[in-house]
Amino acid sequence: VHIEVFSFSDECAIETLVFGEAARQARKAAIAPAVELCCRDCGSDLVTPLRWEQTDEETWYLALRCPECESVDDIVLGRSTMERFIAQLHAQKRALIADLRHWERARFREDVERLLALVDADLVVADDF
Ligand SMILES: [Zn+2]
Repeated sequence: VHIEVFSFSDECAIETLVFGEAARQARKAAIAPAVELCCRDCGSDLVTPLRWEQTDEETWYLALRCPECESVDDIVLGRSTMERFIAQLHAQKRALIADLRHWERARFREDVERLLALVDADLVVADDF
């Protein structure tokens, strides 16, 4: 398990980890006030910038990619919307990391319980270590 939850090249593995419906609802609840930009095709709030460019003092051009339906959308944002979008991305990153830590703890607990079951069944001896 790696912590690069915003790596753009490995979304498939990440989705398996944190994009269950329960995780989705918890994440949406955690970041709802910050979400402003969504995918035009499917409504996902997980759009992330593929490219961006400041075109003048107050305007940014972005190519947004949706990880859920794979659409790419070109948009232009003013400064205040751009600042809120950056805040949205940071909030999502924190929520995803929190999901991942929760998942890691659950997995660690499973591993310990599995080991204890083996110990109880006398299937693990000192020579195994
Ligand atoms: Zn979409």
